[in-house]
Amino acid sequence: MPGNHKELNTDQTDETVSATGPMLAVRNLKKSFGEIHALRDASLEVAKGEVVAVCGRSGSGKSTLIRCISFLEVPDHGTVRVGPVSVTAGPITRQMSQSIRKLRLHTGMVFQAFNLFPHRTVLENVTEGLTVVKRLRKSEADHIGMDLLARVGLADKREVYPNRLSGGEQQRVAIARALAMDPDLLLVDEPTSALDPELISEVLTVLRNLANDGTTMIIVTHELGFAVDVADRLIYMDDGTLLEQGRPEMLIKNPQTSSLKKFLESVSKH
Ligand code: ADP
Ligand code: MG
Repeated sequence: MPGNHKELNTDQTDETVSATGPMLAVRNLKKSFGEIHALRDASLEVAKGEVVAVCGRSGSGKSTLIRCISFLEVPDHGTVRVGPVSVTAGPITRQMSQSIRKLRLHTGMVFQAFNLFPHRTVLENVTEGLTVVKRLRKSEADHIGMDLLARVGLADKREVYPNRLSGGEQQRVAIARALAMDPDLLLVDEPTSALDPELISEVLTVLRNLANDGTTMIIVTHELGFAVDVADRLIYMDDGTLLEQGRPEMLIKNPQTSSLKKFLESVSKH
């Protein structure tokens, strides 16, 4: 509706909010799949530079939380703000699609199953967003891409195709790709679950370095030792709720619910 911008201004970019508020604000997020309440009523704030780890049983809603924050999954209800961009769940209008696109520009994602482009080299995988979305010149994008590859220890693999890399290397490329857009928030969903045990630590090391560099992150992980080392906060999800949260070592030492107690016992047996 041209000429009607004022009325449509509920979900627009607001650069002033991000200067003071948390980097991520999630309000009353709900998502059901038929009868399954994957996310019941989740609210969450993550400060700039904060690292939040999320744990919980399979099916407790961890991926749904991550996917709803980036609107890969459109929530039934609730509001997400990442940096300056806020989106409220509702019918997918053209304006909402635009807001979602903006939100994604501020949000990097890393998945369990790397999801690299098989027909592109490592460097091309990393620079894709820079050339296609940000429309940088190739030389500029390559420069940024090489810096990022160096950061994840893969500068020498720039011309290689993903199928020639180990799982750990592929995941490090995926992390470099997510960082290329310089996101306000990095969402990482079980980054090491698909990896052979000997490859897990190289990926965790990269994530630890990002945390030390001040990257704002939510990491879904079963690696509770890593969470204790790296995360400022650990959230335990159960049945679509953020059931408990706190400093990781406190939460693990002092679980308040029988659900978390049982979960910790089952994890420590492995
Ligand atoms: P987690 O990541 O903690 O293992 P998920 O967020 O993937 O859990 O899933 C939460 C619940 O929602 C599970 O019961 C799962 O089966 C269900 N679910 C997730 N995605 C879908 C989907 N696309 N369609 C139907 N059910 C889904
Ligand atoms: Mg999951």
